[in-house]
Amino acid sequence: MKKVILVLGGAGYIGSHTSYLLSKLGYEVIIIDKLLHSQTFNHPWAKLIKADFTNEEVLNFVFDKFEIEAVMHFAAFIEVGESVKRPADFYENNVVKTLKFLNFMMKKKVKKIIFSSSCAVYGDPIKIPMDENHPKDPVSPYGKNKLVVEYALQDYADAYGLQYVSLRYFNASGALPDQNLGEQHNPETHIIPLMLRAIKNKKTFKIFGTDYDSVDGTCVRDYIHVLDIANAHILALQYLDKNGKSDCFNLGTGNGFTVQQMINAAQKVTGQKLITQNHPRRAGDSTALVADYSKAKKILGWEPKNSDLDFILKTAWAWERKIQNFKQEEL
Ligand code: UDP
Repeated sequence: MKKVILVLGGAGYIGSHTSYLLSKLGYEVIIIDKLLHSQTFNHPWAKLIKADFTNEEVLNFVFDKFEIEAVMHFAAFIEVGESVKRPADFYENNVVKTLKFLNFMMKKKVKKIIFSSSCAVYGDPIKIPMDENHPKDPVSPYGKNKLVVEYALQDYADAYGLQYVSLRYFNASGALPDQNLGEQHNPETHIIPLMLRAIKNKKTFKIFGTDYDSVDGTCVRDYIHVLDIANAHILALQYLDKNGKSDCFNLGTGNGFTVQQMINAAQKVTGQKLITQNHPRRAGDSTALVADYSKAKKILGWEPKNSDLDFILKTAWAWERKIQNFKQEEL
């Protein structure tokens, strides 16, 4: 019989790619997602229940009907800048609801969870690349949300036997356009889709901050293909199945690119000019975030295989050209 994985936020960007991979590898995938971004999701390889992941009626139905092997939790508010403006919403959705869900899992005796954490738990770098022991001093409510949940996971593991893997993503990027999968945030705040849409629609792309301590003054990020992230979830699941110790792992490439370098690369891949305009720093942004992923390599056997920057941008560009219904006001 197929093992059942419950995926919270499985219709979102990273969740949908991971759900696809799970189903391809023979798992039964049940998704709970409220379609926050009004995204379309009509893939045959998963069952989608449109609901909030703390809806008790839905949870009772799902946990009673299916023998759930493990949960993957992607359902979160993700915009760092927004989290600075609306911390109450972010704490409610990302922390309070997650704790409520964990309590439900414990009640139903489902003990395995893979949690979507973030490199935002680290804050500004003391050293680059950052390993998992880097000091945690998040500079945004979003980063703090993720850290609070990580502490809760540790405590639940100690007290209630929860088994967890927390995956600290660096910058998820790229797409699987052939599977009709890619980024569909509404509003979109991420650099790659915004750059590509600006190119496609001949609009201006805003550079947030040109006075950072980097080679050209713009922020440094580590871009990791969403398929590599999806693959890490499968390895994390297999690791927990073998009674691996609950732990946190960085998922990145170890290579950092500035915003300006990303602009140059996007122009190269698309063969078109990107019009840019300098703006002040965006609140909550850390100067540089680059992963040391050696722990994930050693313990999970994971490494990035699809995260060459050209491939990331090519797949993202193919996806952007595929989806027709851009909302102009997003730009
Ligand atoms: N960025 C930018 N202009 C944009 C969107 C993002 O200059 O329109 C910068 C942002 O300040 C950060 C980097 O691109 O330095 C990556 O931001 P993104 O929102 O994609 O990911 P984050 O690192 O916040 O998760």
